[in-house]
Amino acid sequence: MTDTSVDDGQLYINGKFTEASGGRRFEVTDPSTGAVVGTVADADPADVDVAVTAARAAFDEGPWPKMSGRERARILYKAADLVRASAGEIVRLESLDVGKPVSLCLPVDVLTTAEQYEYYSALAQSVDGATRQIPINVHAYTRREPIGVVAAITPFNFPLILSTSKIAPALAAGNVVVHKPAEDTPLSALFMASLLSDAGVPDGVVNVVTGHGSVIGDTLLEHPGIDKVAFTGSTAVGRHAAAVAGRNLKPVTMELGGNAANIVFADADLDKAIGAVIKGFVFNTGQFCMGGPRLLVARELYDTVLGILAQAVPGVPVGDPRDPATVVGPMAGARHLEKVEEYVALARHDEGRIVCGGDRLDLNGGFYYRPTVIAGLANDSRVVQEEIFGPVLTVQPFDSEAEAVALANSTRYGLAAGIQTADLARAHRVAAGLQAGIVWINDWAMLDPAIPFGGVKDSGFGREYGPEALHSYTKVKSVVVSLD
Ligand code: NAD
Repeated sequence: MTDTSVDDGQLYINGKFTEASGGRRFEVTDPSTGAVVGTVADADPADVDVAVTAARAAFDEGPWPKMSGRERARILYKAADLVRASAGEIVRLESLDVGKPVSLCLPVDVLTTAEQYEYYSALAQSVDGATRQIPINVHAYTRREPIGVVAAITPFNFPLILSTSKIAPALAAGNVVVHKPAEDTPLSALFMASLLSDAGVPDGVVNVVTGHGSVIGDTLLEHPGIDKVAFTGSTAVGRHAAAVAGRNLKPVTMELGGNAANIVFADADLDKAIGAVIKGFVFNTGQFCMGGPRLLVARELYDTVLGILAQAVPGVPVGDPRDPATVVGPMAGARHLEKVEEYVALARHDEGRIVCGGDRLDLNGGFYYRPTVIAGLANDSRVVQEEIFGPVLTVQPFDSEAEAVALANSTRYGLAAGIQTADLARAHRVAAGLQAGIVWINDWAMLDPAIPFGGVKDSGFGREYGPEALHSYTKVKSVVVSLD
């Protein structure tokens, strides 16, 4: 039988697990059954203050920012090893907390986390500045210095990967972190904090404050001890967070919502394209900011593609995340399931045609929704324009390349996009015209810690992954030496 026990989670501050000062706790629910499996400390603003004070001291007086990049690299690499060695426990926790299928969690969540620590371990050794040759008699060079204390705020859908995409580059550059994971999914952040400590990260360098964004978020964003905010979450909360941080002149990176289009041209390899379309909207049960919930298909293929989807999508295995055959698990929580139901009801109201799915799957009391394909909606339907964040695909035909690009760019989001075509020139031409931070050609969700991603428009600004993320955790200082 699966172990659904969870140690009662506590805040992690200055290298120690500790109760919230108010003594409150909140419940952690297993989305595959709806059962409460544990409780976690529910922080209040006083706890945030303690965590930021500890982080501040670790940055101002501790060894981490002063260590050589090579020493930090050794510790980050050890963290990667510990992640790999703890794969079983990480899969168990993420599956229990988020409802992630184990078939997805090991290759995606665990390995991507390890690879991020490995990648930024390498980059930690090459944080460097530049010399500038200028026509006056000086020696001018730049130094990249750590920014200081980073507030890392993350959402529920990829808890460990998304906290790592902030913590790994921030630590590599010599910063310290106060991390606030989503209230729905705090378990892997607490587990990872202890792995980082075991790897040799000094006390106070990584602190985890679990609790509700509405209670502690603003305290963290406004705290004078915070030097930078790295936020991933919805556009609505991000807009608020950016405003609060901006009022306090704190630099921010904002990784926000998405609603990507996947464009299938008539010359595409149809089998491969359909694979990319299905992966794009069911991956992580559709709770994927870079998912592809809007299919744009050349009109001559429209009926054919709808026919193939009607056959293929009901065959995608939905079920218990702990069953290795499962591809689509439950939604991460009741509120996410209800949101999907509201959008599908709206699609029916807007005279959309439900090609398949369109209802819950009644299984073990969990928050399951069948992968759903909807045709016939107008482009201005909210179901097309807004981020549903569930396993729902809308399908629209187009008549020309220009119309495909216009439809793809017609929402306020701009995180990802996809192009399925055999025409190389068209692929690059369309990629250049798409308003998105990342464009995939002839597949979906090809990601690597070396490839930067992030948004344009209401999907945010700043980039994670790649050297771009490392640089976002540094400030440039110019040093100019007179040679006269
Ligand atoms: P959310 O915006 O509800 O919450 C994100 C985080 O913000 C949570 O930790 C939450 O507690 C915190 N928060 C809430 N109120 C706050 C406040 N006043 N101040 C500071 N923090 C506060 O998002 P969610 O529902 O957890 O996640 C889903 C959203 O995240 C989707 O919109 C998805 O597209 C987006 N997302 C974006 C990316 C990306 O890389 N662009 C990646 C994953 C998810």
